[in-house]
Amino acid sequence: MTPFKSINPATGREATSFEEHTPAQVEAILADMRNAQRCWRNFRLDERAECLRRVADNLAERAQDYARLITAEMGKPIGESLAEITRCANVCRFYADHGPAMLAPETPEGAPQGARIVHEPLGIVLAVMPWNFPFWQVLRAAAPALLAGNAFLCKHAPSVTGCSLALEEALSGVGMSDGLYRALVVRDERVAAVVEDPRVRAVSLTGSRRAGAAVAEAAGRAVKKCVLELGGSDPFIVLADADLDLAVHTAVGARFYNAGQTCISAKRFLVDRQVVREFEERLTRSVGLLKMGDPLRPETRIGPMARADLREALDRQVRGSLDMGARMILEGGPVPGEGFFYRPAVLAGVRPGMPVFEEEVFGPVASVTSVDGPGEALRLANQTRYGLGASVWTRDLALGAKLAGNIEAGNVAVNTLLKSDPRLPFGGVKDSGYGRELGRSGLLEFVNAKVLRLP
Ligand code: NDP
Repeated sequence: MTPFKSINPATGREATSFEEHTPAQVEAILADMRNAQRCWRNFRLDERAECLRRVADNLAERAQDYARLITAEMGKPIGESLAEITRCANVCRFYADHGPAMLAPETPEGAPQGARIVHEPLGIVLAVMPWNFPFWQVLRAAAPALLAGNAFLCKHAPSVTGCSLALEEALSGVGMSDGLYRALVVRDERVAAVVEDPRVRAVSLTGSRRAGAAVAEAAGRAVKKCVLELGGSDPFIVLADADLDLAVHTAVGARFYNAGQTCISAKRFLVDRQVVREFEERLTRSVGLLKMGDPLRPETRIGPMARADLREALDRQVRGSLDMGARMILEGGPVPGEGFFYRPAVLAGVRPGMPVFEEEVFGPVASVTSVDGPGEALRLANQTRYGLGASVWTRDLALGAKLAGNIEAGNVAVNTLLKSDPRLPFGGVKDSGYGRELGRSGLLEFVNAKVLRLP
């Protein structure tokens, strides 16, 4: 079997390589996990919560090492990698503090005498995870699943195998049963067989629509619960009366954080034609100031993209859109030389039908579309196969709330940056997937809500 290569995106050079698990190793992992889960399900909730607190402590203690690993494997600026580890520790603490109450037995009002609902674990949850937030995407799914009494098996993206193994280390020696959390190092063509294994009871995937459809198909064939978080093409609507300082400031972070490789990034800027020129000028000025360079330097705001092929795909989307009439008002594109850098770009005159409007744009490119008032903004916001997030910028709060109510998405914000929050459910509609992560909804995805009717 060819080893998995970890390539440093800032240099394009191979940093490490990892051997794939053999079929015998996969079998041993699943056997160990089943035993571990049978033991773990009998831990009291407060004991499970205590283990999650220790995971949070491990993450905090080793934050610098883990952050450097994230940056080395997928290229995000070191400050963002550190922030990612902090968020991971926080999500563990959040579920340790609040999860036990969320899982408490319930007696619904008016239920028959003696009936109550208890929340039992399902077994082994398989997670197929992407490279863009290599710690956060995993822990936001793993923390609630583990607290609920499940085991967690993570098949990570090959380019971040080092992070995947580091996560296994961070979750070991914390008092959970041995082998409860494992990294699975296999190619994607071997995932379906793991989904079908009777010991695996549910699947969670974060990634592209293509990957989600493939894994959901395998889960469907095996009649297993599946949660899909598949990214989006989030509209960022700027109405004529918006506070432009705030809108532009937020737009830069919302689009260019993590070099634009974020599912909940603002991806389509729909701006009222009365203010579109001013918005474009201010956005172009602010984006032009973002410092691109070595992601290990603390002042860097834009690191390389994660992989060479992702940069090529982005470039194709941009060139395809320019051919169809979009204008590049901030000159960007692939930077020749070492690494997978892509200079941030702003496109104006973007219309439906262009690749940057129709497809998920996963990189440092902002696309501005001029719209004729709130009605057209809403129509274009919903004119996408995706439905993950959206934001609306206006001083008319009643209008903002009305638009928010009519946007087809899982998360909509008015005059504030959209980001996931452990306290609130996160997920999408349409091709952005189904099911929820985070909040109480995320915790209840991987439980058997069992009804007990006792005399
Ligand atoms: P993928 O969706 O292909 O990868 C995500 C995960 O799914 C990886 O672990 C991958 O493993 C796995 N996977 C892919 N196909 C299958 C399959 N058929 N069976 C089982 N597992 C599978 O993303 P890419 O890295 O190729 O990125 C491509 C595009 O996807 C991006 O440009 C972006 O648009 C979107 N994306 C969105 C994300 C989000 O958070 N919204 C995250 C990542 C990507 P392997 O790499 O081995 O195939």
